[in-house]
Amino acid sequence: MKILAMNAFTEEVVELKKWAQENKQDLTITETPLTTENIDQVKGFDALSVQQVVPLGSPAVYAKLAEFGIKQIAVRSVGYEFIDLAAAKANGLVVTNVPVYSPRSVAEYVLAQTMRLLRHLNQFEENAIQHDFTWLGKISPELSELTIGIIGAGHIGSAVAQIFHALGSQIMINDPVENPDLAGFATYTDLTTLLTASDVVTLHVPLTSQTMKLLSTESFAKMKASAYLINAARGQVVDTPALIQALKSGTIAGAALDVWTGEGPYFDYDWQGKDLNNSELETLLTLPNLILTPHIAFFTKHSVHNIAYTALNEAVRGASGQPVKHPVN
Ligand code: NAD
Repeated sequence: MKILAMNAFTEEVVELKKWAQENKQDLTITETPLTTENIDQVKGFDALSVQQVVPLGSPAVYAKLAEFGIKQIAVRSVGYEFIDLAAAKANGLVVTNVPVYSPRSVAEYVLAQTMRLLRHLNQFEENAIQHDFTWLGKISPELSELTIGIIGAGHIGSAVAQIFHALGSQIMINDPVENPDLAGFATYTDLTTLLTASDVVTLHVPLTSQTMKLLSTESFAKMKASAYLINAARGQVVDTPALIQALKSGTIAGAALDVWTGEGPYFDYDWQGKDLNNSELETLLTLPNLILTPHIAFFTKHSVHNIAYTALNEAVRGASGQPVKHPVN
């Protein structure tokens, strides 16, 4: 089978090639996303896998894929908002995604950022570079003294709960769906109680109309002044101007963001030497109590391996008319 995997990043290429070798498949890898302009590249292939943020293009793109004999699109990510599912369906294309690849990758990011925030590591490191080796005023609690408030305990939030429980923290969860695996040690509660009682609040909800700006000025006002926020879910779940205000005024102690509302043109790109031209991003970068990372919580070898293997197995199933495991249309 001739398979085309488009827009692969360096680490992904390694895993995609490994999969092709193990499965004895003829795989072509490109570094560009699929667009109306380069659609003709797909001609001659039996199966297609994509991973991108830019939309696939007009409905004509889907008609072209069908004309080339393509029967599926295997997306190499959880999100597939760049695909017009109705147009894909209308042209007989089965779209699949990778719904779960490594909840631990994001959960371990939360652990890492919790430690950085609690132990003031950023500030100690920056001070040391300035030859300031003082430490008074920056005392920290230990994990066993903390309540970790998890908003959304699905795949990732549950992994966060397991890790912090193993390290001796109290676990509080706000989620309408209770996970029986966490029942022995986690307390399910309403959002206000969680915000009021937690030392670390970590977000793991999907972005929906209910979770859009879930954390606002009112939410930060409910949190302890010593509490930290971690967002490795989706930027839009937090009202960013309200968070900036809460961080500046000391309403909360600090935050770590792996996602941000305006991340699209910035995260995954090198802007060194260029004008960012975005006052919100510039403000975030000046806050001493904020850690910003470019949507890398998922970025582990285990994740990248699982994404590549799951998507390409789906591509083969879809292209050969077998039932796929993760259809989204
Ligand atoms: P999931 O679907 O397994 O779990 C989401 C949980 O949130 C579910 O248990 C659901 O019941 C709960 N929920 C939904 N609405 C809620 C609400 N209003 N209040 C409280 N709980 C609510 O999702 P997941 O795979 O654990 O992913 C969680 C988030 O992490 C998503 O936003 C996803 O996009 C994001 N994510 C980020 C990265 C990264 O690299 N930063 C990687 C993967 C996933």
